[in-house]
Amino acid sequence: MIATRRPTRPRIRLAFAGISLILASTACGSARQSPESDAKVPDGPLVQQLTGAVSDARAMDHLQALQKIADQHGGNRASGTPGYEASVEYVTGVLRDAGFDVSIPTYQVSGHDDEDAPATGRNVIAQTRTGHPDRVVMIGAHLDSVPKGPGIVDDGSGVATLLEIATRLGAEPAVQNTVRFAFFGDEETGSQGSNGYLQSLSTDDRQKIKLYVNVDMVASPNGGYFVQGGEGTDEETAGPAGSATIGQVLADQLAKTGVTPESIEFVGDDEAPFIEAGIPVGGAENGDRKKKTTEQAKAWGGQAGQDYDRCYHTACDRIDNVNQDVLNHYLRALAGTLAHFATSTNERH
Ligand SMILES: [Zn+2]
Repeated sequence: MIATRRPTRPRIRLAFAGISLILASTACGSARQSPESDAKVPDGPLVQQLTGAVSDARAMDHLQALQKIADQHGGNRASGTPGYEASVEYVTGVLRDAGFDVSIPTYQVSGHDDEDAPATGRNVIAQTRTGHPDRVVMIGAHLDSVPKGPGIVDDGSGVATLLEIATRLGAEPAVQNTVRFAFFGDEETGSQGSNGYLQSLSTDDRQKIKLYVNVDMVASPNGGYFVQGGEGTDEETAGPAGSATIGQVLADQLAKTGVTPESIEFVGDDEAPFIEAGIPVGGAENGDRKKKTTEQAKAWGGQAGQDYDRCYHTACDRIDNVNQDVLNHYLRALAGTLAHFATSTNERH
């Protein structure tokens, strides 16, 4: 996650005929109340199966593995370093063991060294063999850390969440829509991995992506519960039409785990290239350098007046920086959200 809003990139505008999602807007930064229509969509069997099957203990095993990788490679997993390449191998191995076909598409990048020399980055992509091939429900996290630290919460927690969900879902689930998992490189150098990924797709293949859910920091020690999608005054902050429904479903799933989230605007992470492509987006993130309010501490626990993550972008973003309870809420909610859209037959979802 990057603290400051990123300069916008050249737009890849596409006309997404037929994907107009009817949205209910909510007051800015307020606790989310479900618009009747969407919240009333009952959870199908896959939602219940997957939210019941995922385990925060197994997600912690993935975080331990990423910590070990950082310890063996100079304390970080930054793009362009051996620590990142070892992270690519680890994620690829877990997905292949779970039965997925895995691709490792490359992209051109700059900024890996002081000379800003052009280099090649790697993303990891895996998707189900079942589900309609022209209707892709996508979820992503970034695999790179900052050079200063191992990035176990930022964004090892997102990576571990996706690996646990993918492993429980399997490569051939009973779904209507194809489910695609993305592990992007170079988020910390300006979302170059996610941007490179979308740039590499044909217009037709981009149009098959019906929605994207970004997961960036979901296990901070003093973490909050925030969802993105539909909050804001323009597409950059609220997302394209349809994004509020994704934010709503994620909020409903978080509420089912026992916490009431707040809505916040997008701040220019890996969902930004998807927004620029006109793809509806949602986001899950628990806050970074900002301070938890008294009301939030009352509602969610933790310390008021303290950073959500005191180790943000530093060397102490290690395994002992992880709040397993926050991770557990997001893990189950994201499993439910993904299953909801993977089994949706509604043209508008
Ligand atoms: Zn991040």
